[in-house]
Amino acid sequence: MPSLLKCIDCGREYALDDRVTACHACGGLLDVAHDLDALRPAISRELFDRRLASWNPLDRSGVWRYRELVRPGVSAAQAVTRGEGNTTLYTAGPKLASYAGVARLQLKHEGENPTGSFKDRGMTGGVTQARVVGARSVICASTGNTSASMASYAAIAGLQALVFFPAGYVALGKVAQSLAYGATSVQVEGDFDDTLALVRRACDELPIYLLNSINPFRLEGQKTIVIELLHQRGWRVPDWIVVPGGNLGNSAAFGKALHELHALGLIDRLPRLAIVQAEGANPLYRSYLDGWQVRHTVRAETLATAIRIGNPANYPKAVRALRWTDGVVTEVSDQAILDAKAQIDAAGIGCEPASAATVAGIRRLVDEGTIGPGDDVVAVLTGHLLKDPDAVMKYHAGALPGLESTFANAMRTIKPSLDEVAALLDLRV
Ligand SMILES: *Cc1c(COP(=O)(O)O)cnc(C)c1O
Ligand SMILES: [Zn+2]
Repeated sequence: MPSLLKCIDCGREYALDDRVTACHACGGLLDVAHDLDALRPAISRELFDRRLASWNPLDRSGVWRYRELVRPGVSAAQAVTRGEGNTTLYTAGPKLASYAGVARLQLKHEGENPTGSFKDRGMTGGVTQARVVGARSVICASTGNTSASMASYAAIAGLQALVFFPAGYVALGKVAQSLAYGATSVQVEGDFDDTLALVRRACDELPIYLLNSINPFRLEGQKTIVIELLHQRGWRVPDWIVVPGGNLGNSAAFGKALHELHALGLIDRLPRLAIVQAEGANPLYRSYLDGWQVRHTVRAETLATAIRIGNPANYPKAVRALRWTDGVVTEVSDQAILDAKAQIDAAGIGCEPASAATVAGIRRLVDEGTIGPGDDVVAVLTGHLLKDPDAVMKYHAGALPGLESTFANAMRTIKPSLDEVAALLDLRV
């Protein structure tokens, strides 16, 4: 049986090249459902290893290298790729690891993607599908990185990009990218959740293809974060994979990836998934505490703008991911996020605020005894340091109202004198 689209609520099926992005019968989320029994003989660890030595553009991409698990049958002519993925899996030095509270910490840096966030892995999947269904315009609501990524991939594919931002809450680097890549860029007077609702209505009424993370082809691309990191580890499964949770597309994708890899026999056990939310944008955490009795929504408020989402669209798939992986959810304050970010940055790795929620979350989960100090932990850094230079400058200048700049590295000013330079050598930061 070929892969198809399947509603996770009512089970209704659609052909893989249908334009649909949410179930027509019940409004439910769609999965790209693969026939794992048919795939099993077609893929192997050796196949993926072999592709690492190939110059075929599909093999070079850290997404399409695993194409059987993303969109089987895709051709090189169809794929809209920038060679995304292939991101570094850093091993944290002793200082950062001890800050997090674990001896073994690795950081998968998705900020090393072409536009600076993991969204590129989803967008190569989504824009490729836009081309397959013959779309001419694509649209997204975005806290910033989705728009930067969609603007770039749409430009490469020759499609019109419409990006809708919630007014006033998008980090500078991201808006700049969207304008630069030529997207029609619009601020909506509302928050992210209002903006997404408007975009979904527009897609129902107008000839536009939706590229928010409810689009299942984006999640198929994002699955490769987990596939690639396991490949990099020689398929050695960590105890924990830790990810920030906003709209929960990544959380959903990670769960599906792990479930499929396990069913296919590429891994012999499942890691546990830990999803970390900001305290001011914690609807999943609230539902988790309630034992999933209530689907909470909140008015979201956090400096980590990429996860400033109060009504996550992929909630049901994230809950499924947590069930599959015996996962946990936690929340961290903006203070904890920015301090963890300062530690990741000072280690020479660097990331944007939302990404640092992972290390802050690990610290908390170790404190509470959920993660053991001897556990083998991989955190996913979702975005690049330069996405949000404003947060960096204000933190180090001690200029964030209500927050301590615990690890500030303040700019110094000197006279042009050798004595003053010599004095700097005694400075210890
Ligand atoms: C989009 C984004 C997130 C949130 O991911 P979801 O899949 O929406 O949960 C986190 N960090 C960064 C940098 C992002 O761009
Ligand atoms: Zn349905």
